Amino acid sequence: MKDELSHVPFGLGEVNPYNKYFTGVSYLNPLSKGALGVFNVTFEPGCRNFWHTHLASKGGGQMLLATYGRGYYQEEGKAPVELLPGDSVFIEPGVKHWHGAAKDSVFSHVAIEVPGENASTKWGEEVTEEEYAKVNKFHKQGKVVQTAGRDKLTGLADEFARLNDDVLFGEVWSRSSYLPIKKRCVLTVVALVSQGVTDSSLEYHIRNAKKQGVGKNELTESLTHIAMYVGWPKVWAALNYAKNIYEN
Ligand code: MN
Repeated sequence: MKDELSHVPFGLGEVNPYNKYFTGVSYLNPLSKGALGVFNVTFEPGCRNFWHTHLASKGGGQMLLATYGRGYYQEEGKAPVELLPGDSVFIEPGVKHWHGAAKDSVFSHVAIEVPGENASTKWGEEVTEEEYAKVNKFHKQGKVVQTAGRDKLTGLADEFARLNDDVLFGEVWSRSSYLPIKKRCVLTVVALVSQGVTDSSLEYHIRNAKKQGVGKNELTESLTHIAMYVGWPKVWAALNYAKNIYEN
């Protein structure tokens, strides 16, 4: 993890001097010396800050830009929101909330303190283990659930079915902390096409890519990019699926 921490975008900085308001260890790297407070905050797996509120008599609030790993943001009384690189949150002044890492992932976000009059942060109680466990349960509910192996192969190849549903789709595909799900979708399509696997499994994975938010242009550009490396007809076959899936 030390190696991973040293490679986060915008730099790790120092052990956070505000760690007394955090469960676990976080790091703080101030990015601005000017009037606008911009900080890179990195959380070790399982680390999160206490419930808190950004206060101001005018203006104020906080902007979070997720840059690395997987984390969460939660407002009091609302469902937690998963944060992956590229996600952003604007936190209105006066809204009680917390932010931090998933239990199995380093997480970094840039925090921008929105200027305001009499701006301050009011720190509240710790996010309890019960509250935090609910967040990680929420994540489990959001992951890919695959039953195709057991549906098709039970009685013929039970162990292959278990490995397919629980290990390949259950574990490998769920490691979204290190690679967003959309990139996993594109990589999987590329891997299949490059081997010449253009059967129903390729169709499934192109359909899944669309479902997970991979755009038509992103997919077709990826396929165009690899075409001369992997062989022209393989990409033709993939584009035939993509045409049906994206244009219907
Ligand atoms: Mn905050």
